Amino acid sequence: MKILLLFLFALAAPAFAAEPSPLTATLKLTHTAKDNWRADFEFSEPVEKLELSYTGTSYRQQAWHIRTPGVALQRHGDDELLVASEPVRRVSVDVDLFLPYGEKSYTPMDRYSDGGTDVFLGFFDGRAIVAGKPRALLIRFSLQPLPGEHAVAPPDDPQLPDMYAYFGPSQAIQGGASKLILDPATPAWAQEVLRTTTDRVSAFYTQSLGRPLLFSPLVMVAMGDLTRPGYSVKGGAIGYQLVYRMEGAQVTLDTPDGRARLAHVVAHELAHIWQNSVKQGGIGEGPAWVHEGGAEALATAALRDSGIVSAEQSSAMVRQLVDECIVLKESTDGYRGTYACGFKRHVDSGVAPVVLWKRMMNLSERSGQSYSPTMFEQAARQ
Ligand SMILES: [Zn+2]
Repeated sequence: MKILLLFLFALAAPAFAAEPSPLTATLKLTHTAKDNWRADFEFSEPVEKLELSYTGTSYRQQAWHIRTPGVALQRHGDDELLVASEPVRRVSVDVDLFLPYGEKSYTPMDRYSDGGTDVFLGFFDGRAIVAGKPRALLIRFSLQPLPGEHAVAPPDDPQLPDMYAYFGPSQAIQGGASKLILDPATPAWAQEVLRTTTDRVSAFYTQSLGRPLLFSPLVMVAMGDLTRPGYSVKGGAIGYQLVYRMEGAQVTLDTPDGRARLAHVVAHELAHIWQNSVKQGGIGEGPAWVHEGGAEALATAALRDSGIVSAEQSSAMVRQLVDECIVLKESTDGYRGTYACGFKRHVDSGVAPVVLWKRMMNLSERSGQSYSPTMFEQAARQ
């Protein structure tokens, strides 16, 4: 199963705690044509450089075209920055549609079959250099859709991470526990699985982890190419959003295996929403096996206990992950190791996933530290 590996970059508080107050900025994102946007930054003070967040792709190199004279996009290894020959208050960038997926980061955009588009706002964020000193950025986003189109913006709350903006013909509709923007090409079986799994697994996490969410998740589902062979569901969780892209001809077929795989991705991504539903701490830059293995452990428990999969299917899922980890020689280092061996460490702890994660969330919230192997050991021993 392909699941987009998530790294929640801690762009906000801790790294910049000792630095001066954040620099405020506005970013107006205008949908100018079907496949084009314009991003207009306005900073409260003149800026020399803008250090941008990691995309994992050539997104900015390919899709960004700087309009402001004297400003250039530079790349140093994994780092990208906008550099101005003279300090600037305004920077304007044309942005083209860009659909490739990046590893270890968020997909820059998702496209729906009706032309709707999710655009990741986090890739416009970063850190400013003002008078030679780094300053955290506090950006307020405003969205301008095409005439007759809708734009759905995340809430303007600096406590929340940057999320996706939606531009397109749809409006978010209220489901049970969530709001949804569904691609009209989403097969009926997948719509049903998305809705019921989101509702039942949310109820399970709320009850078993003892924490209701402070917001209703926004589920955004885009269909990719449904003609090429195969079945792929990718998902990501950020803030209160769950973003999915489904691709491949087998997605159009209603099968028990297809249902179980989609439900598994939904339960996994929802687990991340809960893992981050703490006042401080949460998922940080510690080894990914802790939160990825944790999401797998929580997901298998949720799917079994809420009756979405049978006891038999659930045991098969557990066996498959454990066997995969044994093939990987118990190493949590590789991409799949974070999932399969992270999961096996949860199994080996002998503590039920919901009990372990209730403790983890309390430990993280109390200390303000992000999830770590040390915290995992501590929670397992409690
Ligand atoms: Zn994950």
